[in-house]
Amino acid sequence: MFPQKVWLSSPTMHGDELRYMTEAYETNWMSTVGANINETERLACELTGSGYAVALSCGTAALHLAMKILGERLYGQPRPGHGTLEGRKVFCTDTTFDATVNPVAYEGGEAVFIDTEPDTWNMDPVALEKAFELYPEVRLVIVAHLYGTPGKIAELREVCSRHGALILEDAAESLGAAYEGVQTGRFGDVAALSFNGNKIITGSAGGMFLTDSREEADKVRKWSTQSREDAPWYQHEEIGYNYRMSNVIAGVVRGQFPHLQEHIAQKKAIYERYREGFAGLPVSMNPYDSAKSEPNFWLSCILIDEAAMCRTVRSDKEALYIPEPGKSCPTEILEAIQGLNAEGRPVWKPMHMQPIYANNAFITAQGTGRARTNAYIDEGSCLDVGADLFRRGLCLPSDNKMTPQQQDIIIETVRACFE
Ligand SMILES: *Cc1c(COP(=O)(O)O)cnc(C)c1O
Repeated sequence: MFPQKVWLSSPTMHGDELRYMTEAYETNWMSTVGANINETERLACELTGSGYAVALSCGTAALHLAMKILGERLYGQPRPGHGTLEGRKVFCTDTTFDATVNPVAYEGGEAVFIDTEPDTWNMDPVALEKAFELYPEVRLVIVAHLYGTPGKIAELREVCSRHGALILEDAAESLGAAYEGVQTGRFGDVAALSFNGNKIITGSAGGMFLTDSREEADKVRKWSTQSREDAPWYQHEEIGYNYRMSNVIAGVVRGQFPHLQEHIAQKKAIYERYREGFAGLPVSMNPYDSAKSEPNFWLSCILIDEAAMCRTVRSDKEALYIPEPGKSCPTEILEAIQGLNAEGRPVWKPMHMQPIYANNAFITAQGTGRARTNAYIDEGSCLDVGADLFRRGLCLPSDNKMTPQQQDIIIETVRACFE
């Protein structure tokens, strides 16, 4: 057992973070205004190439206001008390964190989930095309890059532009990842970043809205500070939010930015060490298109070959498996990793399998698909891609402070699961 827990992905501080936080303290810029915020926004624009950035309290807030601004661009201002997406469908990445898709509901819209492709574990452009055949009226697509791996961006963009749809890019997990030399966060009509504690760089919390429109950046900044009008008193013409980033948090983000490339290099080394360590095992790493993309390698994952899966049953809250020589399953491996005092995690459970989205449509590359909230997944062959990744995949400890010796012990432990 490791004396100190090896985390999935935990914050890694370097010193400058404290200096900028202290600067905020000593100059008394202890609010949602200050030099750290301005500089953090500048750094986000410099990295991604985005025209404007608005620092917000978290990635979820950035996604919400991004959704709202695109909703307004498409459908105009809503009636007071109504969401911008009321009665509208939005196509969404299915295999992701629920923060990607919840903002559709915040704005009164209805998420339609698009199945995942096996090549990068992101939204399948073929399934997206099918979705437009079924729902030609849809004009908004929200795309995430899973675990720091850029999706099939060119294909997704082609499908969207052919159908006149806008893209909201959720780059929360992929800061610093590039596709054809262009940074993620640059492909959507607008995009959201996250500086949550487990992301590749962090402010302990924090998020960022990216756009090329000055007008939209101004609007999002205004919404995020309670929608105050330019008047001597508190004058309100629109619903407001308290979503702005604190200048103290911004100090942490500011101090982290110069270390992004170093974190990526560490994460990449972890990914490569796992890949070499698992040679000969019936598993594969989370894949990426090495010709087109450079992931940030935020999390290293494995997918167990179908033939090497022992029998498993998962209910909504529990998992069981029958151990078998030469075979394993995510639950067995995660238990073994936990036994080392390390942290792993199943692959995101797809949104179409979540009880909260039981009634939402789900579209696969075959143009079919139904929401399945339940449950007892045992036969691999008839599953959609997202359910299959959830059934056979897991995230490994990917903390950039993990030593090579610790990682080798994790590798040996995983190998032992297949004996
Ligand atoms: C972390 C994450 C978010 C949310 O970011 P917060 O800063 O935690 O609100 C959104 N989408 C994805 C894909 C994420 O991984």
